[in-house]
Amino acid sequence: MPPDDVMIAGTAEGDKVSEVSEQPRALRFAIIGAGMAGILSAIKLRENGYTDFTVFEKADRVGGTWRENTYPGLSCDVPSHLYSYSFAPTPEWNHRYSAGAEIQAYFERVAREHDITDEIRFGDEVTSSRFVDGRWRVETAGGHRDEFDVVIAATGVLHHPRYPDLDGLDDFEGAVFHSSRWDHDVKLDGARIGIVGTGSTAVQMTSALASRAGRLTLFQRTAQWIMPAENPPYSDDDKATFRTNPEQLAELRTNLTQMFDVFANAIVDADSPEMKMVAGMCLDNLESNVRDPELREALRPDYQAACKRLIVSPDFYEAIQQPNAELVTDRIERVEPAGVRTADGTLHELDVLVLATGFKTDAFMRPMTVIGRDGETLSRAWAARPNAYMSISIPDFPNFFMLNGPNGPVGNFSLIEVAELQFAYIMQLVEPLRSGEYREVSASQDAMEEHEAARVKAAEKTVWVTGCRSWYLDDRGIPATWPWSFDRFRSEMQRPRDGAFEYR
Ligand code: NAP
Repeated sequence: MPPDDVMIAGTAEGDKVSEVSEQPRALRFAIIGAGMAGILSAIKLRENGYTDFTVFEKADRVGGTWRENTYPGLSCDVPSHLYSYSFAPTPEWNHRYSAGAEIQAYFERVAREHDITDEIRFGDEVTSSRFVDGRWRVETAGGHRDEFDVVIAATGVLHHPRYPDLDGLDDFEGAVFHSSRWDHDVKLDGARIGIVGTGSTAVQMTSALASRAGRLTLFQRTAQWIMPAENPPYSDDDKATFRTNPEQLAELRTNLTQMFDVFANAIVDADSPEMKMVAGMCLDNLESNVRDPELREALRPDYQAACKRLIVSPDFYEAIQQPNAELVTDRIERVEPAGVRTADGTLHELDVLVLATGFKTDAFMRPMTVIGRDGETLSRAWAARPNAYMSISIPDFPNFFMLNGPNGPVGNFSLIEVAELQFAYIMQLVEPLRSGEYREVSASQDAMEEHEAARVKAAEKTVWVTGCRSWYLDDRGIPATWPWSFDRFRSEMQRPRDGAFEYR
């Protein structure tokens, strides 16, 4: 962004703070998190000529959500040739929707091949970032301290498990764990397995476990619309063709992008013809593939398709109709040592209880302490709820940026593309810091307030407010998401708006 266009705070417009010299500066970057967005940041920083950076990762491997989630049936409902970095396509995906372990291996390989692993501090969690004298002082749980010019929080959204508040959970005598904390020592074959929840996680798990469990009980609080999607494998011939014809691989990605754009652009208009088409496909899936009328009614949602995040599955209905599988819609009364007691008085005896109950999606980089300019704390800035201009920058937190931060696009599409676009935007924001022209940049309060008001207004038309409970909705019932088309997001990310950022 040309510095001429930016608003300059704290000085007469056009003046520069006296002690800032216009010498190019070798900026130091801290990246927090080595998941999809952290790996991307490290690779792209280098590509942009920034070589002085540290990636902080609290775990002992890269991968983020793909490292943490290892439940049976885990896959990504965005096709793999789309859910990959634009700069690291691979001909080797085994399925249209590849398994979680393969996705994790992809991220590990990309990190290795781009030689960023040595820049990652594994096993040390960032506990605080404090802006002092124009730089960020970063501290870790292990006592490490360092200073950086710029911090990029790449800490993910679906990261902090949400545990249900069920009476008696601690009394259960079998194995109990959250879906993202899978205990691989627990025997599954032949076991009586209970799953709480019917989100994407529970649905994928049900498909994978129904054939292995002695008995599988799915505790459904809310029925889900299921979008049917075949998951064919790529043959050796397909892969060989992609290897020798990269342009064919690129064309496939373009086609998938266009296909997903139709959906991403449609969800922001609940009455759009495309939304009606999606609803029709889900309804047809239910009517055609669930044979028992009673079960069909139990599985029929009473809200519009895609109001909750749309679930994509080729085989969930088959799985739940297996003789050893049972759908339980009675409310969970409590957990007892032997299993789950529902409101109708039935005790569902279980060996394993999986809590597929989702994530606290409003935590972002917290519990890390973040203290910005003049002692402003993140807990104060976010006292009502998380917010950031364009999901990226918070006023008074200069040179602190988020990837996949609050209120960004989180629908059924590739968060990799979102992060890539956001990263390129951040690179434009820091350019005047590199040139030595300014030392600090953050979104202006006015820009954030205007953006937020427009966002809340636009959300009224989206499918997410058509009458369902979902993790997209904030405490006011307003979707904490990008309410405009994905095309508009791409276009916003091309270049920061004039006057939206304050430079000092
Ligand atoms: P989720 O979508 O938030 O679903 C949580 C489920 O748990 C809901 O069915 C919810 O019921 C139920 N639940 C929560 N508390 C409960 C309680 N106290 N008693 C009974 N039921 C309770 O979580 P998720 O399935 O882990 O998925 C989270 C997100 O992860 C997805 O939306 C998606 O973005 C991502 N994900 C993606 C993929 C993929 O393939 N790309 C796979 C897995 C996950 P209600 O519906 O009644 O609230």
